[in-house]
Amino acid sequence: MLVLSSPSGAGKSTLTRLLTEEEHKAGRPFHLSVSVTTRPRRASELNGVHYHFITRQRFEAMRARGELLEWAEVHGNLYGTPREPVEQALERGQDVLFDIDWQGTLQLYDASRDDVVSVFVLPPSIAELKARLERRAEDASDVIARRLANTPIELAHWTDYDYVIINSDVQAAFDSLKAILAAERVRRTRQPALADFVEGLLGELKG
Ligand code: 5GP
Repeated sequence: MLVLSSPSGAGKSTLTRLLTEEEHKAGRPFHLSVSVTTRPRRASELNGVHYHFITRQRFEAMRARGELLEWAEVHGNLYGTPREPVEQALERGQDVLFDIDWQGTLQLYDASRDDVVSVFVLPPSIAELKARLERRAEDASDVIARRLANTPIELAHWTDYDYVIINSDVQAAFDSLKAILAAERVRRTRQPALADFVEGLLGELKG
C-alpha cells in the first residue's frame, strides 16, 4: 500500500496521475483506491473516477457497516476508503495507491504498518501552494481560504511519514517517487518467493 499525502495544493494529484500512467505503461497497473466523499463534485471531476460522490447519510451507513478501511473529516467534508476493492486488489497481489490525508494514514498504520509505505509531499513555498490552489480556480474563495487555514495542521504531520518529497520541480519529485517505489518493491520482506529462489540457486550449485 503506497500512501501519498500533502497539504491541499502541494501537487500530489499530479504525482498520483503521473505514477498511475507510468505503472500502467510498465504493465504493473496499480490499483488506485477511489474514495467515497460527501464533498460536492468539482466540474472537472467524474463520479466513480476521482471519487464516489455520496450523501452524508450513505457515508454514515457505510461507516456503521464497517465498509470503510479508514475515514476522516477533512476541510468540513467526510472522506473514506471503501474496504472491499482494496482487499481484493491486495489478494490479487496488486499494489494499491492511496491519496488520503494524515488521519487516514495513521489508521492504515494501525491496521498493517508493515504493508504501508507513506510519502508526504511538501510545497516549495506557501506562495506556490496559494498559487496552485488559486490556479485550480474550481473552488470558491471560502473553500480555498478554509484549505489554507488547515495548512498548518496538515504540515505538522510530515513527521508521521516514511518519506518526504519537496515538490519544487514536478519531474524531480516524480523521479524521487519512482525511486521510493522501486526500492520498496525489492525489500527483502516484500519478496516472499526469495527463500525458494535461493534454494533453487543452491540446488543448481550441487547439481
Ligand atoms: P480534495 O477535496 O482536495 O479532493 O481532498 C482533500 C483531502 O482529503 C486531501 O488531502 C485528500 O488526500 C484527502 N482524502 C481524499 N480521500 C480520502 C480518504 O478516503 N480518506 C482520507 N483520510 N482522506 C482522504
